[in-house]
Amino acid sequence: MVEWFDSHCHLQDRYLADSTIGTDSATGTDSATGAEDSERALEGVLARASEAGVTRMVCVGTDAGTSAQAVALARSMRRPDASATAEGVRMWATIGLHPHDAVHGVASLDALLATECSPSVLGPTESDVVVGIGECGLDYHYDHSPRSVQRDVFAAQIELAKAHRLALVVHTRDAWDDTVDLLRSCGVPDRTVIHCFTGGPAEARRCLDLGAMLSFSGVVTFKNAGEVREAAALCPLDLLLVETDSPFLTPVPHRGSSNEPARVALVGAAIAEARRMDSTEVAAHATENARRLFAL
Ligand SMILES: [Zn+2]
Repeated sequence: MVEWFDSHCHLQDRYLADSTIGTDSATGTDSATGAEDSERALEGVLARASEAGVTRMVCVGTDAGTSAQAVALARSMRRPDASATAEGVRMWATIGLHPHDAVHGVASLDALLATECSPSVLGPTESDVVVGIGECGLDYHYDHSPRSVQRDVFAAQIELAKAHRLALVVHTRDAWDDTVDLLRSCGVPDRTVIHCFTGGPAEARRCLDLGAMLSFSGVVTFKNAGEVREAAALCPLDLLLVETDSPFLTPVPHRGSSNEPARVALVGAAIAEARRMDSTEVAAHATENARRLFAL
């Protein structure tokens, strides 16, 4: 059976609740019911992932709270009595502060980093839970945090990735120049990925020149994403990853419903078509590359 590695998803309660119940977490569903609902939702998500051959996934943090949840979730799946497990699915976590939330300050991650990571270790091993810093970066599309704050917080997380010898997971939107400049001036961590790559061939080359890997999402299946498919076609096979960014960016033909890791194969299939190669080969390379990125 073909195995897939979803290199970037969000399966924390907040995201599951948003996607499965169709309500904002702020609308105040009864918390016990909410917890049960999201546990059931998670079981379904993991079972479908398992059926689809998605054997590995990284649950990505976006602030202190969702990072702590990602760590707790990945850890809970290792317990033999875990309620939310699925045959053959393994999960790891990242700790990071999304550019939208940069105003919280990178110090908001300190406590979690102190308990979960040690700067003295030689990077993570397969038994470790935390494998990356991020998602972090710059988002000049929404500008939810002031740009100068976004830049400072991104730079601080680049340093954290290096200090902890973890992969750096980069989010960038409408901010190519500053993203590339900051990575270059801070020094690109050895293992860096541009998550949900949405540029064209020119941006792909700039990122690849930095030594970063490119992770493609459901965007490659979108009708108007010809440039992204061109980038996926030119990306060297040993630097290409696949992700869902669940619950966002649902690939064609499931647009309108929430996304989940089981659908990462649709991303791989679109890349395979753009490259005129077999999707099993895309799966094999993308899985191997994700393992190298996260040092697993
Ligand atoms: Zn994400």
